[in-house]
Amino acid sequence: MLAVEGLNAWYGQAQALFDVSLSVGEGELVVIQGLNGAGKSTLLQSLIGIGPRAQGRIEWQGLPITDWPAHRRARAGLGFVAEDRRLFTGLSVKENLWIAVPLGTASSGQATPAQRFNRVMALFPQLQTMLHRPASQMSGGEQQMLALARTLMTAPRLLLLDEPCEGIAPVLVAAMRDALLQLAREGVAMLVAEQNNLLARHAQRVLVLTSGRIDSAA
Ligand code: ATP
Repeated sequence: MLAVEGLNAWYGQAQALFDVSLSVGEGELVVIQGLNGAGKSTLLQSLIGIGPRAQGRIEWQGLPITDWPAHRRARAGLGFVAEDRRLFTGLSVKENLWIAVPLGTASSGQATPAQRFNRVMALFPQLQTMLHRPASQMSGGEQQMLALARTLMTAPRLLLLDEPCEGIAPVLVAAMRDALLQLAREGVAMLVAEQNNLLARHAQRVLVLTSGRIDSAA
């Protein structure tokens, strides 16, 4: 469903990605590992269309999307959760979730927004107890759940996740991992950057990024 070939990316004159090729099939969980600065965030951002200057071929369901702006990629079914979460911190949990809906409505054609909301609540019962709390008053882990839940409201077909279990309390790490594995079982494809081995052991493929290059696949 996603095929990347020969992707290069540059911040100014500094090259951050070198000839990266990978694919994610229907319902697959693919993990990208690599040290800090290896290029994981740059890769995910390039795929969703918010990265630095890039060259190469990105195909989504057979269509070349390399020149598509981010909002068009999102509408076509690519969902992204950034490492820094990018929530509307002044808005409540509920508002953060519903604000994502108009975007998703265009792409889905299946579950209604209300059904998606119920599904997200079932996946993250923690959020149900804090629907009216401003996002600024949530812990890091709760914010991470909300960021994922918000992206799920757009009914993505492929989730691009940048270190979803990083820097959050251990009890929420387990809840986040379980929610992601549940989504994977339901057939949501995922490309996940992580430095720990939380999802890698469940992945169809693990790609290792070293200094902007993919150097092995398992
Ligand atoms: P981390 O786990 O620390 O987020 P990463 O694997 O996601 O690391 P990137 O953030 O993609 O790595 O960084 C890849 C390279 O690009 C690094 O050398 C980094 O310094 C550089 N880089 C990242 N963002 C920028 C930027 N906005 N401007 C210039 N260089 C950048």
